[in-house]
Amino acid sequence: MRANKMDHPNQGIKCVVNTCYYYSSGDHCLADKIEVQPQNAADTQETDCATFAPKG
Ligand code: SF4
Repeated sequence: MRANKMDHPNQGIKCVVNTCYYYSSGDHCLADKIEVQPQNAADTQETDCATFAPKG
């Protein structure tokens, strides 16, 4: 999923992935939306953010 990078945190998301293009200090995400995968995940560890993009 493509997301727009906002100039303010998405208040509904806490994220610690500081290598992501959308990451902002304070464990914020600047993406206007995210996608989480995969289907049929069995536990928390199996899930991840498909909107992640490496820092340019
Ligand atoms: S896009 Fe996903 S991985 Fe990147 S900062 Fe937002 S929630 Fe974290």
